[in-house]
Amino acid sequence: MSKDRVIVAGAGPAGLVGATILARAGIAVTVLEAEAALPLNLRASTFHPPTLDMLDELDVAQPLIDQGLKAPTLQYRDRPTGLIAQFDFGLIADLTGHPFRLQCEQFRLNQLLLAKLEAMDGVEIRFGAKVSDATQDQDGVGVVLEGGERIAGAYLIGADGATSAVRDATGIPFEGFTWPEQFLVVSTPFDFTGPFPDLCCVNYFADPEEWYFLLKVPGLWRVMFPTGTDESLETIMSDATAQRRLRRVFDTGAPYTIEHKTLYRVHQRVAERSRAGRFFLAGDAAHINNPLGGMGMNGGIHDAHNLATKLARVLRGEAPPSLLDRYESERRPVALEYINKHTIKNKRNLETDDPAEQAAFRAVLKETLADKDKTRAYLRRISMIASLEQAALGAG
Ligand SMILES: Cc1cc2nc3c(=O)[nH]c(=O)nc-3n(C[C@H](O)[C@H](O)[C@H](O)COP(=O)(O)OP(=O)(O)OC[C@H]3O[C@@H](n4cnc5c(N)ncnc54)[C@H](O)[C@@H]3O)c2cc1C
Repeated sequence: MSKDRVIVAGAGPAGLVGATILARAGIAVTVLEAEAALPLNLRASTFHPPTLDMLDELDVAQPLIDQGLKAPTLQYRDRPTGLIAQFDFGLIADLTGHPFRLQCEQFRLNQLLLAKLEAMDGVEIRFGAKVSDATQDQDGVGVVLEGGERIAGAYLIGADGATSAVRDATGIPFEGFTWPEQFLVVSTPFDFTGPFPDLCCVNYFADPEEWYFLLKVPGLWRVMFPTGTDESLETIMSDATAQRRLRRVFDTGAPYTIEHKTLYRVHQRVAERSRAGRFFLAGDAAHINNPLGGMGMNGGIHDAHNLATKLARVLRGEAPPSLLDRYESERRPVALEYINKHTIKNKRNLETDDPAEQAAFRAVLKETLADKDKTRAYLRRISMIASLEQAALGAG
């Protein structure tokens, strides 16, 4: 095996984007995925403008757009009183080739990238290949699979998700906390633009009793709710409870058709370091956060883009290995100070029952919309363009 081969643990969005960038630069890549095939589970469904710009470089933005819904606007609403504010990404069309959020399930991106990788030279993709340990010395890395097989390479990217075996192998702590409530996503084909005619594709509803998030994907609306900390799993997942929650959004007078229910624990954690010698952490292996703002998968793709571009330059002899030091100094502050901070604030804005906080949230939105420069700054922040500017500043 080539001593310049990069091993990528995990065939999620971060791992596959990283592998594609490396393979396009002529670097040999091995992707190790624990599952027998690409998982088709429903997870992230929002691609931000700069993420689409990066995916365009890999020729997968348009095929993804073809399978999704363009969301040029985003709304904040108050459950009792209705629309508070609507933002239009068209105002930052000079900063991105894609002035909209794309609503499309993340597994569709994984499928597109896998098809590209399978057609490229120097790429090996192994399913049913679960990383159990990894070692390194000054010449390279050794990755141990469950079953004992050992694979050698030059560098290892741990893009193996929140429970990363690569992170475990480094001993890097995954610092932060887990929210007491879980998040339930219920998908229904019911068309919410009937009861809410001016609804757009992405709508956050503030409500101190039970906030929710209405998100349109092709053919379905996904409705996300927080669960009660005292509710049993059986109660949360029962049809009666899901119907009750949906009736609070809008009472149709008849039961909703429910296509999927997904429940998940929500964390705010950032790995203490994103690099240990020849091992790098990217995506959920490096940071996890609540989904309000859609920054988890997008941030993971931005990590992979940053890291793989640097690794390719170093392995092609175009830059010294010291370039790799900048990965952590550019990306970790984004995870810690930007993604973590903003997703926690987004949750607080929707759930607070403090009248002063509620008023402050609404006042900031009003002031922001009244001033074009403030609106553009706000759009740069929620689209994550500002996070890439912050990372560039970290480059020093
Ligand atoms: C239910 C749910 C809803 C979500 N909704 C949103 C959302 O709306 N917006 C948002 O931005 N984010 C959301 N997220 C988070 C988002 O899905 C993740 O941030 C994103 O998947 C991270 O991509 P990744 O490539 O880092 O990791 P993953 O997508 O987790 O991919 C990791 C891959 O590694 C594989 N793997 C794991 N262990 C090993 C091992 N030991 N060896 C080899 N392979 C391994 C896994 O099988 C998986 O294929 C959601 C997550 C969940 C669970």
